[in-house]
Amino acid sequence: MKKYYILVVALVLLVVSFWYIYRVAKSAQPTPRIPDTTVKMPVVSRPHASTTEIVRGDTTKKQVIFTFDGGSTIQSAQSILDVLKKHHVTGTFFLTGQTVVKYPELVRKIVHDGHEIFNHTYDHPKLTALSDDEITNELVRMNTELVKITGVSSQPYFRAPYGDRDARVRTVAYGAGYQSVYWTVDALDWKEASGETNESVTQRILAHVSPGTIYLMHMGDTITGDILDAVFTEIESRGYVIVPLTKGI
Ligand SMILES: [Zn+2]
Repeated sequence: MKKYYILVVALVLLVVSFWYIYRVAKSAQPTPRIPDTTVKMPVVSRPHASTTEIVRGDTTKKQVIFTFDGGSTIQSAQSILDVLKKHHVTGTFFLTGQTVVKYPELVRKIVHDGHEIFNHTYDHPKLTALSDDEITNELVRMNTELVKITGVSSQPYFRAPYGDRDARVRTVAYGAGYQSVYWTVDALDWKEASGETNESVTQRILAHVSPGTIYLMHMGDTITGDILDAVFTEIESRGYVIVPLTKGI
């Protein structure tokens, strides 16, 4: 009878210790991870975006900023990249989503060469004519394509096509993670069909060399590619440094 009693006690002890081990093991397990169902949107942050607009860079330094918009054609693109490399200058590009989709190799080369790419909308509409959602969509679609092709984001700057923006456009863009960048001087390189020439555009650029000037030029005309080397040489000879947007504001 005593033997039987010991057996029962041993059995109870065994069950209790198994239960205890089970409890300890269970509490040591990490809490189960909640599956990440967040939709991966390309708009991830708004690092420095603001509803104010940038029209000029830092006016305390002898430096200027060259920006190149790419909306449809790319006649000057290779020349621009060659000149930037020759002068050891980092350039700033505002590209449309259509350009990114149409010329992926060029866009990868721009990134590979260390230049900056920001948002010029997906298909170059007049933003003030669009609804809030349509504006956001233009910016998000462009960024989606850029991220897909290069892995880099176009945030936090955008340039409105035709400079067509108002307070509402800027506020909506801010909500999508973007700040508007206008320009100080439009070189009017894009008006070659209306009589602008290499000489007239060069004169216009050189007449406005002053601290913080942001120049607007384009990839889609031939003037920019023709004159850029000489323009950079002249500006540098005046003691100015040509800087990208992010270093110049
Ligand atoms: Zn444009």
